[in-house]
Order: sequence, then C-alpha cells, then structure tokens
Amino acid sequence: MFVVHPIIQKKKNQRLLIAGPCGAESEEQVFATAAALHQQGNIDLFRCGIWKPRSSPKSFEGVGENALVWLQEIQKKYQIQSCIEIVSPQHLEIALRYNITHFWIGARTTVNPFLVQGIADAVAGTDISIMIKNPIAPDINLWIGAFERFAKLGITKMAAIHRGFLTSETGVYRNNPLWKIPIELKRLHPEIPIFCDPSHIAGDKKYIYEIAQKALFLGTDGLMIEVHQTPENSLSDKNQQLTPNEFAQLIHSLNISTATNTQDTLLQQYREIIDELDKEICLILSKRFEAVKQIANYKKEKNISLSQIDRWKQVMENIYKECENKHIDISFMKKIMELLHEESIRIQENITKEKI
Ligand code: PEP
Ligand code: MN
Repeated sequence: MFVVHPIIQKKKNQRLLIAGPCGAESEEQVFATAAALHQQGNIDLFRCGIWKPRSSPKSFEGVGENALVWLQEIQKKYQIQSCIEIVSPQHLEIALRYNITHFWIGARTTVNPFLVQGIADAVAGTDISIMIKNPIAPDINLWIGAFERFAKLGITKMAAIHRGFLTSETGVYRNNPLWKIPIELKRLHPEIPIFCDPSHIAGDKKYIYEIAQKALFLGTDGLMIEVHQTPENSLSDKNQQLTPNEFAQLIHSLNISTATNTQDTLLQQYREIIDELDKEICLILSKRFEAVKQIANYKKEKNISLSQIDRWKQVMENIYKECENKHIDISFMKKIMELLHEESIRIQENITKEKI
C-alpha cells in the first residue's frame, strides 16, 4: 500500500474531471479552449501538453516553455489549475518557475525506469501532484514500479491514468483498453485513484462515449478528455479531440458525478476478466486449429495416415499432468479434449479431401 492523497479535493465519491487540448498550439487556441471549459464550470484540472513526445520528429512536438506563460495566466484568470506532461527533470524545473504543480508522466515515459527515476528524484521534497499513465506496453509491473519510485521519495499526491496499450490487436480503437490491467491495478492498489483517458484509447471521437461509460461502470475515479476549440485544425490527435460543446454533451450524458454501486462494480469487474479470458481461449483455439492444418498438409504430402492412436494417448497423458498441476477436474478436461480431437480430425479430413 502506498500513502496516497487526492490530487484535488473532491466530495466523497465524486469523479475528477480533467479536460483540455492535446497540446498548446497558440495563445489564442489555449485561451479559447480554457475559456469555454471554464464557462461550463465542471472541470477540476485543465490539461495541456506543451512538450509532446511524438513518434516522428516531423510531427508537431509542442510549443514548449512559451505556453507556460499562458497556462500561468489561465490559472490566475479562471482559478483552475493546469497540468502538463513532463519527460525530464529539466521540464519540471522550468514548469515550477511558472507555478505549475500538476504533472503527468506519458505512456512513452512510464516504459523507461531511468526516466521515471530521474523525474522522481527531481520532485522529491516538493508538494507537486503526479499522474502516471500506463506504459505503452501491457506490463502492470512497470506501471506499479513507477508509483514505487515516487512513493519512496515521499510523493503522495498520485493517480494513475489508463490510456490503453499498444498490442498487435487493438480492434477499432487506437489503443487496446485491456480493462483487466487497470482492474488488476485497482485490486493490488485500491488506494491509487485511476482516471480513464478515453481520448487516447479511442483515437477517434466517435468511441469516446462508450469507453468513458464503460470506465465509469468499472468505477473509475475520474476522466481525462482531450478538448480543442477547433479540433479539425489541431496539430496533434485531431480525430480524437472534442469541441467544448461536444465535451459538454458528453459530460451531460454520462452523469459523471454519481457514485457507482460498489457491489455492481465488482461484479462488472469480474465479468470483464471472464470476457478477456474467453477472448484468450478463442485465440488459443484458433492457433491450435492452425497448427492442425499444418500437420494435415504435411501428412497429406507424405502420405501418412490421419489419426495415430499412440500420439493421441500421449496428448491425453500430457494434458492429465497439466490438469493435476493446475487443479482442473480430469473428467471435465477429457470431454473438452475429445471435442477438440473430433474437430481436429474433421479439419484434417477436409484438407485430405481437397484435390491436390
Ligand atoms: C497526451 O496525453 O497527449 C499523450 C501524448 O498521451 P499518451 O502518453 O497517453 O500517449
Ligand atoms: Mn494527445
């Protein structure tokens, strides 16, 4: 357990709302977005990337220190704190000069323990708050390790941001949410608030509602959402940013401030885990059937008979051993294996029947 204090004080069970552009681009854009969000009156923190780690150096990498003047001004004018991404101790040192005290560590930084340690060392002894995005790779230990580094140095205002993972299969989203990972983080460290960043999971604004809704179902402690005055002109992440009006509609339809029923949340979490595991079972079955096809083609080429009883006995013996290790009922497994065997023979027969 870490000692964790809230980043921003809220009423019990109220979710934190963070919104703002992916990045600061111009004084006009930052002020217009902040003014519109201020007018709506429901956000707790204004997000605004000023140093943007991008895949290609040809992409817009942020306006840097210039934007800190604007953010400082916004903090004063609207009485709303800003948060920015930092990647190095130098970023922190510069930002502190402009009274910025809320930061996040980006997904490309959390993957690197040396970078995280460097930032942790630099914030030691300060009262800043730090939000740690999940690492790009689905490795929960890297994520938890980053919290350990800050906690060890006495930082307590911490939160996690779930922004999805880069995996070979992301479906229609830009990043795979892999809900089981934030759920597992919550199970291991219930003291760490987790905010969901549906913008970076979605990659397209049309999916933001469904992702945010699911996160709320699962009991997320807050949302971080990208909002831009004119997303179509944005220099980064233009497809996923909402206009201030769209943001207002989203928040209205999500009913964000209501606390969820813990019982139902827990049940939903268990169901998420089952759904994820079922997907894995399907993936493994498809890989097994692929391997069966390869064997069938090989047997056909070499003229070897389809079913070989000795091999089948050996397969079953291997499986029984696994069942013992994993405490799975053997008679249950026997039924599954017989079904699998039947299906494998059917697949092999089809291949054998095909004309050469
Ligand atoms: C961002 O928040 O704009 C950002 C770059 O996020 P991530 O680190 O999640 O890609
Ligand atoms: Mn972004």
